[in-house]
Amino acid sequence: MACSFDLFGGYNPRLARLSILNKNEKLYHLPVVCNQCEQAYCLTVCPAKAIFRKEDGIVHIDQDRCIGCGLCARYCPIDMILMDPENKKAYKCEMCQGQPLCVEACPTGALELVTPVKTSSSPENRSNPEAKFAPDDRETN
Ligand code: SF4
Ligand code: SF4
Repeated sequence: MACSFDLFGGYNPRLARLSILNKNEKLYHLPVVCNQCEQAYCLTVCPAKAIFRKEDGIVHIDQDRCIGCGLCARYCPIDMILMDPENKKAYKCEMCQGQPLCVEACPTGALELVTPVKTSSSPENRSNPEAKFAPDDRETN
């Protein structure tokens, strides 16, 4: 909820850019956050070209260009785009300028910021069938 406070000035899980999946009669809880997908459907479908990716890989929404059509929210496979109830524009996790507030606020350290793990299906490895998971590539903050 730390990001809902940052965005809207109040703690509200419905407005947070991260959601918690409660599974098996709430026996376990799974935080879900935007994957900053390599092939981001939200970016592809936006008719106003309001969604773009910065050099660091983070997918952003240009609030000035957004026309509030909601297509990005409909096409995100994990429902990580929300519509601002006030201005009716889309918003999503943009990683808080590289220092996610949710990670800072988590009291148990359950959340951490990691860089993507290169896999055999990563674009740079697609021609290399020998490529494997590379856990040592992972960095934490
Ligand atoms: S909002 Fe959804 S589709 Fe867009 S980058 Fe995040 S997870 Fe991928
Ligand atoms: S709601 Fe805004 S960002 Fe999303 S698809 Fe429509 S114009 Fe693009």
